[in-house]
Amino acid sequence: MRYFPVFLDLAGRWVLVVGGGEVAARKVALLRESGARVRVVAPALGASLAAACAAGEIEHHAREFVAGDVDGVRLVIAATDAPAVNRAVAAAAESRQVAVNVVDDLELSTGILPAIVDRSPIVVAVSTSGTAPALARRLRAEIDAVLDGALGRLAQLAASFRGEIRARIRDLGERRRFYDWLVDGAPGDLVRRAREPEAAALVARALAGPRPVAATQGRVTLVGAGPGEAGLLTLAGLRALQCADVILYDRLVSPEVLALARREAERIEVGKSGGGDSVPQAEIQARLVAEARRGRHVVRLKGGDPMVFGRGGEELQHLRAAGIPYEVVPGITAALACSAYAGIPLTHREHASGVRFVTAHSRGSIETTDWRGLAAARETLAVYMGIATLPRLVAELTRHGRAPTTPVAIVENGGRAEQRVLVGTLGEADVLATRHAVCSPALLIVGEVAALAPTLHWYGAAPLTDAAPPARAAVA
Ligand code: SAH
Repeated sequence: MRYFPVFLDLAGRWVLVVGGGEVAARKVALLRESGARVRVVAPALGASLAAACAAGEIEHHAREFVAGDVDGVRLVIAATDAPAVNRAVAAAAESRQVAVNVVDDLELSTGILPAIVDRSPIVVAVSTSGTAPALARRLRAEIDAVLDGALGRLAQLAASFRGEIRARIRDLGERRRFYDWLVDGAPGDLVRRAREPEAAALVARALAGPRPVAATQGRVTLVGAGPGEAGLLTLAGLRALQCADVILYDRLVSPEVLALARREAERIEVGKSGGGDSVPQAEIQARLVAEARRGRHVVRLKGGDPMVFGRGGEELQHLRAAGIPYEVVPGITAALACSAYAGIPLTHREHASGVRFVTAHSRGSIETTDWRGLAAARETLAVYMGIATLPRLVAELTRHGRAPTTPVAIVENGGRAEQRVLVGTLGEADVLATRHAVCSPALLIVGEVAALAPTLHWYGAAPLTDAAPPARAAVA
């Protein structure tokens, strides 16, 4: 390690900045955020620094730099475009043993300024030891993206209770659990929803009770895993997976998404992929409550979006009745993923003015469906769990007026590497599905927009557009 990282307390202390242009102004702005008193030496100031000077935020000496300017300051920054001046500043600082940063000049600098992510009081500083500033900026952006947006406010909450927590909870392990709850549990959730006063009240209440750690209740996060591709999980979903104690997941959830979960988290498959063995819904709900009552953070991970044909609503009702706190992280639902990855816009100014998400997966649901409404032209239908009942679905739609020539697309494994898209007409949809042996999960898209897939597709294999069997099936 060539450079030693250190965070300086500059509040109320003098820093010298030599140079009056925009680069100097950016450094001054950062320094000001740390509460430093900034002395700028430059014959003239650019617009930004002139404004700062007029506002009394900096001290300005309108002249050339002299070595004595370095006296009595903690840090020196040279940001002029005159190499001779920069050299003089560096030499003066070095001879007085004050750290100096010469912008864009590693040779002359004895200190370098890192790229920073500021979630005060949390600050992450990134340095490439001056070798690749562009890379440092990229790293900063990546770190910025994964860090909890509420991190700073969470740290403030924790800090405001630090003394009390130390006094009330002696055992170090228990104290760590309490902090985990504060950040990952209900108080953290409240802070993320901009409800700091309630969060503080909750922490205070837990600390006032006879056994603070026992008061740290578990909770459930309902997370949408998206269609499978890990990149389609949200950052909020990722965060939930990384602080889960236990994950109850559906069969539709891909291994790539599960792999992002905290290594120590217990993983429980609860089925539900349409057909096959699956844990009864009542049992899943009871398990959610039982795990949360043990004080654990339970993640209920569902394919797509948890509130779209995922029985998320029933689970929330059950949790609410049991008094278990919960939150919901939306996911990319199959209709959105399939349409995007098949090149089928769900709405289009010329072809469809609306879209409906429907399902018809059982006799009962078919009988209660509003077919007349669904048969309306100029609307796209995204039919979930519709392949098994396809003949009936087609019959009802056409009987209620949707033309058999209406384009349809069947998207199997949408958004995954093995995606297949079949395009045809409503009248031949069943033949298409049978001939190509479509299997679950598959989504049916009905409407003029489906005909755009052969031109707009961009992902995976080109759509199959005929009702004839594929070559390998013909051989077999
Ligand atoms: N909550 C899920 C839907 C669960 S119902 C969501 O929001 O996507 C299960 C049905 O969703 C499947 O029968 C299928 O119609 C559809 N589906 C889910 N994932 C899919 C995928 N990757 N490709 C195509 N259809 C999918």
